[in-house]
Amino acid sequence: DTKAAVPIETLDSLSSKSFPLCMRQLHEHLRTAHHLKHGGRLQYGLFLKGIGVTLEDSLRFWREEFTKIMDLDKFEKQYAYNVRYNYGKEGSKKNYSPFNCLKIISNTVGPGDCHGCPFKHSDANVLKNKMKGYGFELQAINDVVDLAKRGHYQIACSKYFDVVHNSSMGLGINHPNQYFEESQKLKGE
Ligand code: SF4
Repeated sequence: DTKAAVPIETLDSLSSKSFPLCMRQLHEHLRTAHHLKHGGRLQYGLFLKGIGVTLEDSLRFWREEFTKIMDLDKFEKQYAYNVRYNYGKEGSKKNYSPFNCLKIISNTVGPGDCHGCPFKHSDANVLKNKMKGYGFELQAINDVVDLAKRGHYQIACSKYFDVVHNSSMGLGINHPNQYFEESQKLKGE
């Protein structure tokens, strides 16, 4: 893989500009709560690997957040393994692929979880308020929420892409990492 490494210092900016909402909300939750449950760590951790965050940077990223609420020893014992595991450095040493939309959408999401696809798993009001908080126009918000309500999750995601990028591409979205790459392409133009 010849992709350039993505420094973790850029993740705050990338999350608002180039992450699909499923990953943006995981990033924001991690930043505010300094923790993610297992499903979130897996979904977000593999996505980060996919966009080009190195293992060393990933370890630093998770460590910096988690050690705000726990000591370093606990992090190293309970969580560092999973970060290395995602990169195929532990256990069966498989090279795990980031999840596609179908897998994320069909995942089971319980209370307190923030993984999954927000267009499928979030309550319409929660979704609305989130996008209001991002400063989206009401019409755009209603369009996205309406698509989500009708079960068109990936089309809602495509609409979200267009709102964020001020475009009208109407992309077919089938993978969070594909969403990211399309966004990066636009920025490179
Ligand atoms: Fe993420 Fe796919 Fe849902 Fe978009 S449609 S928010 S990329 S899971």
